Amino acid sequence: MKAFRSEDYCRKYFEKIRFADGDYCPHCRHGKINRFSDGMRYRCASCKRDFTIKTGTLFGESKIPLKKWFIAIFLLTQSKKGISSVSLAKFVGVSQKTAWFMDHRIREALKQNDGQLFGDAGIVEADETYVGGKHRRKHGFQKKAVIFGMIERGGLVKAFHVPHRGTEMLLPKIKEHISPKARIMTDEAKVYQKLPRFGYTHGSVKHGKRRWVYKDINTNSIESFWALFKRGYHGTHHWMSKKHLQRYIDECVFRFNMRTNTPDVVFLEIAKRIANSGKLSYKALTYEKGNKEKGSAWAQIKTA
Ligand SMILES: [Zn+2]
Repeated sequence: MKAFRSEDYCRKYFEKIRFADGDYCPHCRHGKINRFSDGMRYRCASCKRDFTIKTGTLFGESKIPLKKWFIAIFLLTQSKKGISSVSLAKFVGVSQKTAWFMDHRIREALKQNDGQLFGDAGIVEADETYVGGKHRRKHGFQKKAVIFGMIERGGLVKAFHVPHRGTEMLLPKIKEHISPKARIMTDEAKVYQKLPRFGYTHGSVKHGKRRWVYKDINTNSIESFWALFKRGYHGTHHWMSKKHLQRYIDECVFRFNMRTNTPDVVFLEIAKRIANSGKLSYKALTYEKGNKEKGSAWAQIKTA
């Protein structure tokens, strides 16, 4: 809070990041903009439209001060197990509805990147885990959700909510994210036995025969990540709809992958992502067309 003491200071901080490669208009991308004397607004020299430093970013046109956004970002990324929107509302000083909105906007910036994660001939562990599936009075029975994860030993993790754990689901993910040069460690599930056919060197753990720590064949790294994820899942969020599960996974992955960085580096990374983000409407978050679980996360807050 000391670092972001005033709204003016926050705006200047964000302006530096947003226009790092030079000024531009978020409406038409023109490179010449004029600043109003109030320091709050800009006008494009080409299309003549006005905008603020938040226009065209995940912060959107919200009336929420940058200072509150920054406190929320800090809290969301520095608490080990994440933070519920109920607690976020209390700490930031906004309504629960606003906190939920902020929470989801910030998480949007924590999304995992596309592309291959494991470039060189390292060891990658791949595994699935399951969450949810409890019978709940208010929400009815929900099948367990499958999460598929890949981790480079001593390095980065990627994880995805997948509809099922079949070959046609997991193999494309592996091919997309793991370099063919990597050695892959898994459990003895059938799907992974096909890996050598795709050119991967594969070692599988035989849990039943207690050979899981035989030489370097083990899945300890990915299991540590699952343990961390589940502590957050059960400890903070209690229940979450499948629709929002990927966002929570992304958040956990982000925190894990940034774990060796200092808070200011983590903060800067998110601020950069938000400064370069597009818009995400509140409507799209709550009432996605044809989504069976529409509004369910909001319903969760109302009943909390
Ligand atoms: Zn313009």
